[in-house]
Amino acid sequence: MTIPRPSSSSPLARARRIVVKVGSALLTDPETGRINRAWLESLIEDLLRLRKRGQQVILVSSGAIALGRRQLGLAKGPLRLEESQAAAAVGQIRLAHAYKELLESRDVTVAQVLLTLEDSERRRRYLNARATLETLLSLGALPVINENDTVATAEIRYGDNDRLAARVAQMAAADCLVLLSDVDGLYTADPNKDPAASFIDEVLKITPEIEAMGGRSASDVGSGGMTTKILAARIAVSAGCHMCIAAGHHRHPVRRIEEGERCTWFVPSATPVAARKQWIAGTLRPAGAVMIDPGALRALLDGRSLLPAGVTSSRGRFERGDTVSVLAMDGTEVARGIVTYSDVDAAKIMGRKSADIESILGFRGRDEIIHRDDLVLLNPEPAVKERVGS
Ligand code: GLU
Repeated sequence: MTIPRPSSSSPLARARRIVVKVGSALLTDPETGRINRAWLESLIEDLLRLRKRGQQVILVSSGAIALGRRQLGLAKGPLRLEESQAAAAVGQIRLAHAYKELLESRDVTVAQVLLTLEDSERRRRYLNARATLETLLSLGALPVINENDTVATAEIRYGDNDRLAARVAQMAAADCLVLLSDVDGLYTADPNKDPAASFIDEVLKITPEIEAMGGRSASDVGSGGMTTKILAARIAVSAGCHMCIAAGHHRHPVRRIEEGERCTWFVPSATPVAARKQWIAGTLRPAGAVMIDPGALRALLDGRSLLPAGVTSSRGRFERGDTVSVLAMDGTEVARGIVTYSDVDAAKIMGRKSADIESILGFRGRDEIIHRDDLVLLNPEPAVKERVGS
């Protein structure tokens, strides 16, 4: 059954792909240290409601350390890195179990994805993680993501799931990110200390004044305060994704946002695709270049992807995931894009049909050498059009 989306203009109702992050303080009961089951069920119902409206949902869930530390009998207070890692190892199983039970009883397949900072920053891992998420979503699974706390060293830790969630939103080209925590949004000053503090509903630009508002939250369960939420907002809006900070302690926390519960929205200036394209176009030094034939150039101008068949040669050394220039036969740079093959593999498949890629390389890679979502035309003006005679 598909339920219609409300006509409200909430970015949550308009979004195609939504990432929701829940903090440990919401998921676990502070008294017992156990999962807050009734609350979690109401959250799951909210997420399934989004899915029934045709929206794709990714959940970033904290709580592993909070659940595991209780089980291991680790006392309150700050943990050493190896203690939190041990706690995460124990808690993550419980967390995954709870999600499996709650989702599968509602006929939804849950997928666990554990990521580290490196996975979102090293381009090959980034591409793999991105492709996995894309595949899971296309197969109708609900990805539940956490940081891979047990293997992350101090240097490669996010440490907080706010930033992890923003990276996930960026990686998945989500158009909406919701951070549910124990604070209802951004204030001009700490409302617990300053009675004159006023609430901010909407942030159109993250100025130094906005950054200065990021005091720490009162929560001692999760690791993110307002500072990490503003860092997350930076990542999200620069990826063209709306982000919302909302209090999540009431039941049905996501539905409540749509129903008008107070929260702070960070508004991007571009869509995820446009933001990605701006970023590609702005690459200072492309790693290399591919030369294409007029037929391929025509296809690019029609908004299609670049296939190996249209590539005639390449220059420079590049890896899968690098940005490369796309050159017309006369050497003019006509586009830039993220390449899906290294220069070595590209040399083997250029001029050949995509169907032959597997027999040439011995593995089944992408059909495109640059996918149209990862490609930006630099000069779709008459000059380029003349060159292809259209
Ligand atoms: N990854 C941590 C956990 O699951 C949480 C980090 C955070 O609270 O932001 O326990």
